[in-house]
Amino acid sequence: MVIVPHVNPDGDAIGSSLGLYHYLIQKGHSATIVVPNDYPAFLKWLPGTSEVLNFEFDSALVQNVFDNADLVFTLDFNALHRCGNLISVLEANTAPKIMIDHHQHPEAYAAYTCSDTDMGSTAEMIYHFMAQLGDLELLNKDIGTALYTGIMTDTASFRFPKTTATTHRVVAHLIEVGIAHSEIHSLVYDANRFERIQLVGIALSNLRVLKPFNAAYITLSQDELDACNYQKGDTEGLVNYGLSVKGVKLAAIFIENSADEIIKISLRSKGAIDVNQIAREHFNGGGHVNAAGGKSDLSLAATVDLFKALVVNLNSDLE
Ligand code: 5GP
Ligand code: MN
Repeated sequence: MVIVPHVNPDGDAIGSSLGLYHYLIQKGHSATIVVPNDYPAFLKWLPGTSEVLNFEFDSALVQNVFDNADLVFTLDFNALHRCGNLISVLEANTAPKIMIDHHQHPEAYAAYTCSDTDMGSTAEMIYHFMAQLGDLELLNKDIGTALYTGIMTDTASFRFPKTTATTHRVVAHLIEVGIAHSEIHSLVYDANRFERIQLVGIALSNLRVLKPFNAAYITLSQDELDACNYQKGDTEGLVNYGLSVKGVKLAAIFIENSADEIIKISLRSKGAIDVNQIAREHFNGGGHVNAAGGKSDLSLAATVDLFKALVVNLNSDLE
């Protein structure tokens, strides 16, 4: 069996994959996680990390794993292109696919689609998947540690609205099997390099608030990233600073990527503003109602101008 999370894997992509991996191993299956590309260092302490194959480094080995697979799980994504460069491998592979995911508008590529957009994380869905198969007695510290990391990161430490009583019951069970929740939080969030904190400082000084429109945005240019020796994961969560300004209901971050000649965009909102729709319609992306992402081929300045124009229109629509 192969487990594939989305490209640029985040805490939920890796946490749900490793949780499922440790579960399948317990069940006596042979399972391999294949990531489309690398993931942040703050997730690399998780049990099972050393067994994860990276398609960018091990393409021949990965092809071999897929050739021998009888089942492919795709986790934390809803459209095949979200597996990045692995798409040609996944399209050619004939093993049945099982999608487990919580993003809006799932594509119909899988033999079995397990989609629940009310879920705050795919990691929580893996717990319910185990429960539905009557396997909760197999829950152990490794599964729990991985799932807790996914749930914690995708709910922003249990504060996003999709954090439910059930989420807390799931987490209570994870704590009962012995996970070190406080240590997990520290390993993920207190592992900053000094340069990363300097980058946070630059991001905060670049924060602009469009007060009449209840919107805010941050920019980071390639030069600013280079000055702080940017590494994968350094910009994670920065978009939320915009949303932390009183009155702001829509926040964006625009991050220049000169190598790929794109601006990577993250959008967050509070309430009814649907950033999934904004990302789909204007930024070649998608996600959830209150958290989405995408990209732009325009310059950083032109992308910001487009965002400002959208914000003005959005407000006239709401009136
Ligand atoms: P983030 O802003 O943290 O990168 O992503 C927020 C949410 O939007 C995540 O659930 C992520 O999977 C989704 N997302 C981010 N970038 C893209 C994109 O380029 N395309 C699509 N379809 N979804 C994205
Ligand atoms: Mn997720």
